[in-house]
Amino acid sequence: MARLSAHSIPDCEVRHNVPLAPYTTWGVGGCAKTLLAPRTADGLACAARRLQDEGAGFYVLGGGSNVLIADGAIETPVLLTTGVSGADAADCGDCVLVHCLPGTSVKGVLSMAVKNGWGGLEFAAGIPGTVGGALAGNSGTSAGSMSSVVEAVRTVEENGAVREWKEGSIGWGYRSCSLFNEGRRVALGVTFRLVQSDRASVVQAVKSAMKGRGYQPSASRTAGCVFKNPEGDSAGRLLDESGCKGLSVGGARVSYAHANFIESMADCTASDIMELAAMCRARVRDAFGVFLAFEIKTLGLADS
Ligand SMILES: Cc1cc2nc3c(=O)[nH]c(=O)nc-3n(C[C@H](O)[C@H](O)[C@H](O)COP(=O)(O)OP(=O)(O)OC[C@H]3O[C@@H](n4cnc5c(N)ncnc54)[C@H](O)[C@@H]3O)c2cc1C
Repeated sequence: MARLSAHSIPDCEVRHNVPLAPYTTWGVGGCAKTLLAPRTADGLACAARRLQDEGAGFYVLGGGSNVLIADGAIETPVLLTTGVSGADAADCGDCVLVHCLPGTSVKGVLSMAVKNGWGGLEFAAGIPGTVGGALAGNSGTSAGSMSSVVEAVRTVEENGAVREWKEGSIGWGYRSCSLFNEGRRVALGVTFRLVQSDRASVVQAVKSAMKGRGYQPSASRTAGCVFKNPEGDSAGRLLDESGCKGLSVGGARVSYAHANFIESMADCTASDIMELAAMCRARVRDAFGVFLAFEIKTLGLADS
């Protein structure tokens, strides 16, 4: 792709050779040859259009809490959404519509809901990252997922047009949203439908959701669950019973607290994490004949 200059897109910073590790919760990964960091929704739409026009592909990065980025140079341009954040709400009787820009943190929207006594998003307590990333991966827990609260989505389409999607036109699956199953669509905004409740009940529900996370490692750098649960089973159980807890490669170690979490320690690299994940997969396949698919997303790495 032609080298973009720093001022070529309005409301968008263009930087070259940017280390990506600080933009991920694992804290690993190489340098983006080109990073576009828009500051407004218009800037994001312009940047997405520009990248779509180039036709060379690009990667949307939100909070980086579910992604493993390869070591070394990342040729694919990276579009970072975290600078495009903010939310406002409209009362609609017994419900509240909360309109969010894609880089808004899930934590921030949940705080807003707690403060105002709006129910529905409590399941998301403890999920890091942005609403754009949460939407793309239909993030959630056994208590609920984004599909249960999303009312509408605004996207930049592959042809550059901005489009609105109402709830009924979006297909949802376990950790998937039909709009983002393949490549080039960018979430420009998300509207959540929450319910008028009272603050005490919302606080209580958030507390109980956080309590349910007690078994997860909290002091180390992770990207949440590495593998999806296979139908009717738990990846964590399979990994645990295959003896994966505590396995390590270089600076990557399978958490002792939860076998589906890989922790990055000092000098960890993306290759360490990939190698360790492959080792875990092989153990589960040998012990149970089950192939574990990645829940994490990858950039610049081939998932076998
Ligand atoms: C401690 C911890 C606990 C976690 N717990 C959970 C949990 O309980 N449940 C759960 O589901 N996940 C969990 N996760 C994983 C992760 O936090 C979620 O998947 C989160 O919603 C990802 O959001 P993000 O902004 O960080 O996305 P990123 O990691 O930046 O990106 C994830 C994917 O979303 C795409 N994407 C991001 N923004 C956009 C956009 N605007 N438009 C189009 N595509 C976009 C990216 O291209 C990528 O494919 C956890 C992670 C950690 C570190």
